[in-house]
Amino acid sequence: MLDKEKNFKRLSKSSSLCRLCPAMSDLPAILSSKNGSLYTDLIFIAEAPGRFGSGRTGIPFHGDRSGDNFEQLLNYVGIKRKDVFITNAVLCNPLKDGNNRRPTTKEINNCIPFLENLINIITPKIISTVGGVGLEAINRIFETRFKLADVVATPLPIGKFILFPLYHPSPRVIHTKRSLDKQKSDFKKLFRFRGH
Ligand code: SF4
Repeated sequence: MLDKEKNFKRLSKSSSLCRLCPAMSDLPAILSSKNGSLYTDLIFIAEAPGRFGSGRTGIPFHGDRSGDNFEQLLNYVGIKRKDVFITNAVLCNPLKDGNNRRPTTKEINNCIPFLENLINIITPKIISTVGGVGLEAINRIFETRFKLADVVATPLPIGKFILFPLYHPSPRVIHTKRSLDKQKSDFKKLFRFRGH
């Protein structure tokens, strides 16, 4: 087995054993071969698994309305899941009273070593954060201070990769902050920038 695969297997196993966040200690970490390709140039980093999405299906952005929208955006520009890697800033599903909630700062910090490790294993050319929490995690790791509204769909060189921030395609964000049409044009820019 190649080093990349060996290291990823180790990382996936250690995330499955992680109990650092008390509120999520009984829930699975979503990090497996179902997240996509380790040999990709592009990683998407969203917020956290959703209750009806990857929290249920084990496949990031699949099974709920955010997943439907994300898949629509991928299809719009012809990006295939098997050619990219999709993950979250927080690997387990944060819940409050049975509903999805935003992860706390502590939970984002707890999970950062997994994300850092993953980036080091894949060494992508482009990292697309999907929503504010993904961008917050990148800001913490690389000591940047980007604000999503200022840098959406803008290529930003950081060290060995280019950051390309996107909004989250949840129904709430689409309704209040960034319409699906605007997100389609953001994905088009990503597609053109990626150059295939
Ligand atoms: S969210 Fe991350 S840090 Fe928290 S328990 Fe899950 S794997 Fe561990």
